[in-house]
Amino acid sequence: MHPIIVKSMKVFTTNQSLHSCLASLKTSASSLGFVPTMGALHQGHLSLIKRATKENENVVVSIFVNPTQFNNTGDLETYPRDLNQDLKRIESIESLGEIIVYAPSEAAVYGNSVTKEAFDFGGLELQMEGKFRPGHFHGVGTVVQKLLDIVGPTQAYFGEKDFQQLQIIKKLVKISKTNVKIIACSIEREPNGLAMSSRNTRLTSAERFHASKIYDVLKTTKGKFSDTPLDEITKWVANQFEKDAIINLEYFQISEQLTLQPANKIEPQKKYRAFISVYIRNIRLIDNIALN
Ligand code: AMP
Repeated sequence: MHPIIVKSMKVFTTNQSLHSCLASLKTSASSLGFVPTMGALHQGHLSLIKRATKENENVVVSIFVNPTQFNNTGDLETYPRDLNQDLKRIESIESLGEIIVYAPSEAAVYGNSVTKEAFDFGGLELQMEGKFRPGHFHGVGTVVQKLLDIVGPTQAYFGEKDFQQLQIIKKLVKISKTNVKIIACSIEREPNGLAMSSRNTRLTSAERFHASKIYDVLKTTKGKFSDTPLDEITKWVANQFEKDAIINLEYFQISEQLTLQPANKIEPQKKYRAFISVYIRNIRLIDNIALN
């Protein structure tokens, strides 16, 4: 299969064509950045790609909606997909090196067995998203390992927007002894503070406006962290959403950053984060903030 060449961007859908392109690029000194995505690209994704292009000679961006990480088929079916739009957005990025888009079929990634492996992430997978989306991180671990094996990057970029996922990926590459550096990228937000997400496009403009409250609550939590007992903060957050007609709180948790265990008492040498998940109608939104 021939690549479609658009400026400094090439698009591949098969592993073979991707591999022959990568082989032609490799010199002994070359670094290859990798940004895995599920498409429906927004400025959050683009910030990862831009950073990867600055820090590597060449960059692979994968666009693949991974079936094994969805908890229900409805969510998988309604997940926004628009490859042409995504390619236009990637094309707008200025890069000296090559941006290689890998948009594989299910068979290219999974062969003929679309199944997820079971991992032991040392308990990271049991907190927060793991509780509310059972099996989700096993699906994420399965696809990320497969993609890392296919692409073979020197550095892979993940957003702190999905902070629990980021910690799980760090654990995954340790367990599998995959030789890749995992780079954490900060959260991109809309002007009103709402964390950018492919799901935001499903909100009405009134909902999107009101959803700024999620980040406002997180910022106030950060302000309270140094002098307010944790259970009081948690109650305060629950109160903020109790009478909210638009936002339904699913969970709020303050965790130690490395283990993601819920914080009971604060140890000054450790780092903590607040994590939140809400629903607006059937649209699920997550966010988090560093507290110290
Ligand atoms: P997704 O397509 O949702 O799987 O996301 C692909 C990557 O983009 C993941 O590493 C996400 O954490 C990251 N990402 C998504 N939204 C944002 C955001 N608002 N800011 C920074 N990174 C993000």
